Amino acid sequence: MASDIHHRTQDFIKLYPTVLRDLKEVFGTQGDVLITVSSGTGALEASITNFFSEGDKVVICCAGKFGERWVELAKAFRLNAVVLMAEYGSVVAPAAVEAALNENPDTKGVLFQASETSTGAAHDVKAIGEITKKTGALCIVDAITGLGTMPLDIDGWGLDIVVGGSQKAFMIPPGLAFISVSAKAWAQSASAKLPRLYFDLKKEKKMADKGESAWTPNVSHILALAEALKYIKELGMDKLVENAQLLAKATRAAALELGLELFAPDAPSSSVTAIKAPKGMDSSDIVKGFRNQFGSVIANGQGTMKGQIFRIAHLGYFDFPDLFAMVAELEIILHSKGIPVEFGKGVAAVQRVYAEAVSAKEVAAVK
Ligand SMILES: *Cc1c(COP(=O)(O)O)cnc(C)c1O
Repeated sequence: MASDIHHRTQDFIKLYPTVLRDLKEVFGTQGDVLITVSSGTGALEASITNFFSEGDKVVICCAGKFGERWVELAKAFRLNAVVLMAEYGSVVAPAAVEAALNENPDTKGVLFQASETSTGAAHDVKAIGEITKKTGALCIVDAITGLGTMPLDIDGWGLDIVVGGSQKAFMIPPGLAFISVSAKAWAQSASAKLPRLYFDLKKEKKMADKGESAWTPNVSHILALAEALKYIKELGMDKLVENAQLLAKATRAAALELGLELFAPDAPSSSVTAIKAPKGMDSSDIVKGFRNQFGSVIANGQGTMKGQIFRIAHLGYFDFPDLFAMVAELEIILHSKGIPVEFGKGVAAVQRVYAEAVSAKEVAAVK
């Protein structure tokens, strides 16, 4: 029984380094990639407590509910946060980050989301990374839905900390988070004084180098991760990204064809597409329609966006057959609520994007 592997046995010590190596390959970095036994937020917390001291100044790009989580974390650990706010649906411009860093030369970290899952908007990770790289600050990216849905050149763009989570593009249940650490980040960690224990990355790294995890891991998740990583490596991380990007493009095309408005039209994420409910309609009814009529799962808006938008995910295992169905279902749901819909119009938009990509040989079969 594979799930009975004890974590201090040779069986586990054979498995764990392979998983860490595959993870590093999939992240595409020469830096360290460690695993925390937690949901994504645990690794976000680790990326605060391991690299800063009380009162340290950080710049936070806050463009939605997950940006607000960075702000909460910074507050909980008494950092001095300069918060750059973007309206929901927009993102913080790299130029604003540059200006904040010029004004605050003592900044020790720049924190943001690659993809702000709550609004369906994506930051310009490359530009923010390259701006931050020129300063002493660490570039810290919540890429929990960015990994596997958008290109992330961790070493080339100067991304010091990149956080991923098991339940997003890694396609396994929640309960593991991943964190890459650059040499620049380790150097800053040496003088970082915030208290830490469970999420002590130096301890985690020391144990990882011996083929073990610091604490008792959820072994069944590690086994699942090993399989997921095999699948991703076989497909190619770039192909997983292309698949998400193409699905996102097709979803946007379908929405516009159906007369719907995108929530983040200027910087749309490829992890999730956020669409505004038609005027006078509560998006909760669309979410319910998907679930009750078709057993399909889409997401409502979070916080004040609840009832205003609905979100269709593209990460991981989703493919075109899923999207053909989702858009056909959406047409039926809108029609049943009295919204004028010409059946097939949205689906045809998805078909066109798919067919064009096939003829341009862009399609990666996600099987
Ligand atoms: C899902 C998600 C998280 C994860 O938080 P959990 O602690 O795993 O619930 C964090 N950031 C972003 C951008 C996410 O999409």
